[in-house]
Amino acid sequence: MIAMLMSTHLKIAELISEELGISSKKIISRLKKGSCEPDRWKDFPHHYGKEREIRKHIVEARNLFLHGAEDDAFFQLGVALHYVQDAWVTIPGSHPLHGAWEDYIDDAAITDDLAGLVRDAMLNHFADGLTRYVFSDIPDEYVKASERQYLSIIKYTEQFEEMRRSDFDGYDGSFVRDKTLFIATLRHPILGSPILDLNFAYKISLMVSSAVCTSKESRDFKTEIEEKRRIYMDKLERAEELYAAKLSEMNMRKIELERKKGFINKLRKMACAYNFWFYKRAYDSRKHLKKIQKAYEREAEEIADLYEQWYLTYIPPLNIEKIERLFKPKNAH
Ligand SMILES: [Zn+2]
Repeated sequence: MIAMLMSTHLKIAELISEELGISSKKIISRLKKGSCEPDRWKDFPHHYGKEREIRKHIVEARNLFLHGAEDDAFFQLGVALHYVQDAWVTIPGSHPLHGAWEDYIDDAAITDDLAGLVRDAMLNHFADGLTRYVFSDIPDEYVKASERQYLSIIKYTEQFEEMRRSDFDGYDGSFVRDKTLFIATLRHPILGSPILDLNFAYKISLMVSSAVCTSKESRDFKTEIEEKRRIYMDKLERAEELYAAKLSEMNMRKIELERKKGFINKLRKMACAYNFWFYKRAYDSRKHLKKIQKAYEREAEEIADLYEQWYLTYIPPLNIEKIERLFKPKNAH
């Protein structure tokens, strides 16, 4: 029930290591080990229905990568890639020609020109070499549908590659995660050939691997969170100004009333003194600033939520201590 030969999985793992510029022998061997592992687990079938596993192992790989556990990250990535690659084998393991198909995949060449491969397949109606024996009397609409599917998959990979090249500039973490998982679980078109299977399996594996190894921090997140923090620092300063002005005004009124005589004024003075005491106590504990700090933390968490699906997120604290106390009471005499 093996879908792709171990030697093919290993070959792809090696090419990916090369393409990503991984030089650590240990990491390459972990990627290779992961790439073969599911066939030892024998949780067959592998060529379909493994979307949940693919997503799980990719997310796990990225999390391990973010936290510096690269060995384990590449093992997990390898496991995900195994299922991804098996899903790109056109014919099931139960097919009588499956063994030969696997060998053809293993012998096929890797090329950069996916569109060219699809064009060739179209010219031959997907009926060159081995494929001829697997698919007999292929209806035209199957050929047309497969071409459309292949071309749209190529378009996805091109868009994805462009986004990755700019380090996913302009996209948040949940977007990058969803796109990566989407690419990883694309459906195989109706028709295929060993060379298409190998090349699409490799291309998709490379896309997924490069996304898992992309920068640990997001520039967009940093910009967004810094901007949010700046806005809230302004809010703190403004709140301090307003509150200090209010206290000064109350204080002035208290002093004014203290100078006045009479019973009514005595009552007024008491009320005013109480009010002042009440507001001053809140001011001293910096309640007016803590409220703003809480609001900042809430909003910053919301932003971080979007990014932490794929990135490390650090929320810079909003430091109340940096805000100078503007209210300096004048005493009556
Ligand atoms: Zn397998």
